Amino acid sequence: MQELNSIIDQLKDEMVDTLTKWIQIPSVKGDAEDGAPFGKEVKRSLDVALSDAKAMGFDVRNIDNYAGDVRMGVIGEDPLAILAHLDVVPAGDGWKVDPFGAVIDGDHMYGRGTTDDKGPAVAALYAMYALKKAGVKFKREVRLILGCDEESGWEDMAYYTEHCDMPKTGFSPDANYPVINTEKGMLHLDVHADYAQDGLVVKAFNVGERCNVIPGIATAIVAGDAALCEKVNRLASDMHIQVGAVIGEDGDILLTSNGIPGHAAYPESAKNAIGQLLIMLRALGVSGALKTLADCVGMEYDGLGLGIRCSDETSGKLTCNIGIIRYDASNGLYATLDIRYPILANHVALKDTLVAALGDGIKVTVDTQKDPHHVAPNSKLVTSLLEAYHEETGRPSECLATGGGTYARCLEEGVAFGSAFPEDEELAHQAGEYLSIDGLMVNVRIFARAIIKLACE
Ligand SMILES: [Zn+2]
Repeated sequence: MQELNSIIDQLKDEMVDTLTKWIQIPSVKGDAEDGAPFGKEVKRSLDVALSDAKAMGFDVRNIDNYAGDVRMGVIGEDPLAILAHLDVVPAGDGWKVDPFGAVIDGDHMYGRGTTDDKGPAVAALYAMYALKKAGVKFKREVRLILGCDEESGWEDMAYYTEHCDMPKTGFSPDANYPVINTEKGMLHLDVHADYAQDGLVVKAFNVGERCNVIPGIATAIVAGDAALCEKVNRLASDMHIQVGAVIGEDGDILLTSNGIPGHAAYPESAKNAIGQLLIMLRALGVSGALKTLADCVGMEYDGLGLGIRCSDETSGKLTCNIGIIRYDASNGLYATLDIRYPILANHVALKDTLVAALGDGIKVTVDTQKDPHHVAPNSKLVTSLLEAYHEETGRPSECLATGGGTYARCLEEGVAFGSAFPEDEELAHQAGEYLSIDGLMVNVRIFARAIIKLACE
């Protein structure tokens, strides 16, 4: 182990250079072109990564630019998969440095994709490289799979599964330590209803683009006057909610709700601005489907008002989020519900219960359903990863559950493993995303240890 760690230390500068090069490619999904299903930059990112891996002496394959892989050990023998991805979400606003500059300041490297997920991909590659240099003997194949469509539709993994031999077991360093062996089920529902003919007149209420996002701001236009404006401000202070009202030029009232944005899988740290606005609309006398949504969901994210609140010991609580709402007189209501349910819950029963709670006049259809994913905590995979993490860091090691979804789901026996440490800030998809270079080195050592436990003689 000591010899291996000194090999890893010697690779540090080279690894940082490699990561710099990878970060400087803005591999955001673009228009499909011939031979580039996710756009030119994503393809370039894959080309560069595979040519770097090839230069290290690995066996590499480009799977029609949907994904690539890097193989070592006994090729074809029960591969241990490491699933990472090279595509990134758009940089977005709020950066103080060039999001694709890979700017290094002390121990930090800044850039889109440093933690999600190019840093972990580089760490896995260099863990394999260090083992290669150390000359360890393998008893099976080790395969780093580099995906190109994780942030969008996962078409990369669908293509890989169809055209390649997707391994049965492995881990995905695209979340946090120690080991996430439980991913909740996902149920994305579309909700439709007619426009209400009585009560408060809501002229427009259009918020949100994605069902898995918790909106931080929501606005609606309602008919009213100065007295209604005052009433909103009084109610907001009575109810301790952040909703304000102003009279617009055309005499309508603009309501603005300020919440805290977040991800549907982690509602505990957010506040849904749509839900908050629904509560205000109900207080102002709205009727029909908007009142029903205020009653049944409002600002709750545990499904209580929908009758679906539940939890189990392994996965924790069900969560529920309204991500999109569209409402006006000509189109009626459209809204989405993103539900993350515990492994012991049944999605058919959940939907039936929720439909009954919403009542007549509200139509619910299933947009997407993904089964929960769970790997036994006493499996060789999980115990080995827990040991590798504990031995390298000295930290307590335990299994976790998440409402999020990682590539681990693509494997029959797959878990998320790293690469964020428990105290790390949540930086994925945010402005100012950065990684700690020392932390990256610890990741390499943890991955190398894990591979030895799982794939070496
Ligand atoms: Zn990711």
